[in-house]
Order: sequence, then C-alpha cells, then structure tokens
Amino acid sequence: MNLTAAFDGLECVDCGATVDAAESHQCPACGGALDPTYEYDAIDLDRERLASRPFDSQWRYAELLPVARESAVTTAEGATPLVDCPDLADELGVGRVLIKDEGRNPTGSVTDRGASMAVTAALEHGATDVALPSTGNGGQAAAAYAARAGLEAHAYLPSRSGFTNKAMVNVHGGDMNVVGGRFDDAAAAFEEGLAEHDDWYSLRSFDTPYRHEGAKTLFYELAEQLEWAVPDAICYPTGAGTGLVGLAKATREFRELGLIDETPALYAAQASGCAPIVDALEDGRDEHEPVDHPDTICGELEVPDPTASARVLEVIRETDGGAVATDDPDILEAAVRVAQTTGLELIPSAGAAASGAWELAERGAFDGDETVVIVNTGSGNKEADVLRSHLMSQGV
Ligand SMILES: [Zn+2]
Repeated sequence: MNLTAAFDGLECVDCGATVDAAESHQCPACGGALDPTYEYDAIDLDRERLASRPFDSQWRYAELLPVARESAVTTAEGATPLVDCPDLADELGVGRVLIKDEGRNPTGSVTDRGASMAVTAALEHGATDVALPSTGNGGQAAAAYAARAGLEAHAYLPSRSGFTNKAMVNVHGGDMNVVGGRFDDAAAAFEEGLAEHDDWYSLRSFDTPYRHEGAKTLFYELAEQLEWAVPDAICYPTGAGTGLVGLAKATREFRELGLIDETPALYAAQASGCAPIVDALEDGRDEHEPVDHPDTICGELEVPDPTASARVLEVIRETDGGAVATDDPDILEAAVRVAQTTGLELIPSAGAAASGAWELAERGAFDGDETVVIVNTGSGNKEADVLRSHLMSQGV
C-alpha cells in the first residue's frame, strides 16, 4: 500500500489490538472496529502551510490520511462551502449560524468523503468487489467511486430509499439490490451476500476504518474556513454516527498538532421516529437500545441499531454536546424555511439538524453569542419530492 509517512496502522477500538493496515481492515482478534492511528510528532503541518494549498479536495490534508494523495480514488470531494446565514442566526438568537453544504459533493452528499477514502483502501488491498448496506446516499457514493476505481459495487438499499439513490447506483454500473422493508432488512441481506462471497470487501460504516476517516476532513475544513475560530456547536444529522465520530477525531488531531485550542460541542440530530442515540443519552446509557419500529420520513436517519453507538455517545459526552430529536413535520418545516430564507437546499435528514438547532435554542442551550454550524449532509435535490410534500400538507 502507498501509505503516508505518519500513518502507524490500525488499532481495534474494542480490544486494543494493533493491525498492519497493509494486511487487513478488520480486527483479526475480535472482529471489532478499527481506527487509523498516526505518529503526530512526525507531522509537520501549520496554518500557513495549509493556507498555501489550493482548497480543492479533502486530499489536501494528506498528511492526516492513511493513503498518499497520488493513489487516491477521488473526484474532488470535500472543499465544500461554509455559508453564512444571518437570518437564521437572528431567529436562533445566536451570534452566527453557518451551513456547511455537503450537498455540493460529487454525488451530492457527505458520504463521498468516506467513500473516496474507503474505495482507495479497497483498491490498495487488491479488492475486486466492494459491498455495503446503505440507507441510500452511501450506496450511491460507493457505486460512483467503485466505478472510478474499476471495482464492482454491490449495494443493498431498503425499498424505501430515494429514487435518485437507487437510479444512480444503476447508472454507475453497480449491482443494485433493493431489499423489501427497512435498513435492517437491507443490512441482513448484505450480511448474507457477504457470507456467500469470500472476495467481497465490506464498505459498511465501521466495518471499514476508512469511512469515518474520510468524514473527519469536514472538521479540518471548518476550522480553516472560520479562520481557526472553532465553532461553539456543530449540529450533525445522525444515523450510523460516522460523521460525529470523524469530527471528534479531527478535533483531537488538530489540537494535538497545536492548530486549535478549543473543542466544539457536538450535537447529534435525529428524528423522533428513530432516535436511539437521543434515547440512550437521555437515559444515561453507554450504548443504544435498538428501535423496534423505526418510522421517519428522513431515510438517512432511519438506522434503528447503530452498531457504533458507544463511540457516538462517548464523543457527545466528551465534547459537552448533546442529542436532540424532532418530529418529521418540524424537520420538513425547518428544511423548507431554510430554503425560503437562505436559498440553500437541505436534504430532509439535514432538516433535522436545523429543527434540532431551533429546539436547542428553545431549551436555552445557547447564550446568544455562539457560532453554530449546521451540517447539510446532502443535496435537497435528491429528495425534492419529500420536501415538496410538506408544502402540499400545508395546502400550498
Ligand atoms: Zn479487536
């Protein structure tokens, strides 16, 4: 593998085993999730050096990624805009609200970051086939990057996934498996497929150590875009939790490198119809309990059994953040309000981060001078029908 200089290898989050990244991407001892580790003392990165580089893709942070940039499977993902929304700041009663618009990624969602990283690793490992279950966007992204790398992608999506996701898996030449039911049914079908094919390389969140490793670059960009003023709070729509785990790691790394001093409070935003992280936090538990009957219009948030919940809860507690769930009508209302006041197009699931921020403001979570970042995890275009259905329900 064409590894970067400071990349040490992989460490098991569950049992502490260390694994040679060239050998495997899963823990041979316990099957647990692995995390890439680095020798930070060997990384020579300062604010000036970063500022001198073009803001062109997530690979501009190559020293903090496992694989060298010249080996990357990339379509210039990342480097998304951070858009000031003063009207939202007034409504929320805080100093600034900014939306990190991940809808501008190549396939229209934040999952492109992790897909680029994980497909790069798969190619380096000599994989021929990659496979994953997905709520939708992750499958579309994996199919796109697999196509670029010349790999076969096997995506398992629940029948409720959006039309755009399913169509684009096909358009990228992927093997599209639409599974009747919801995400857990798709995950079960994926596991069967994986068991039957020794040569499939799993790209499922946290099966691979590289999806959250790609997700972390979002925070690096935020810090630079805010000219090194760390935001007070980040609201992130949360299903499996890849994004929050990645963000937390990035904040630790930038502190370790002396680039920032503060840590943002990380908030998981979920939908009331499927809020295992919110429930676990409110009950003071270290892990989630699976949601028996998940039901939300936000497909990307309908992950009733997030396997990495312990890590997600840990980062929320570590950063003094929180978790907030709002109802589907409020989520869609927030997405529409953002569209009508800022011009930005939130995917319905990211509407949960906006309505969650409003809910937090109402609960008195903010003092009045904070900088709050809302992450728009995907383009509103992907689910325009869902957004418009909210207008119809209002009689518009
Ligand atoms: Zn292990």
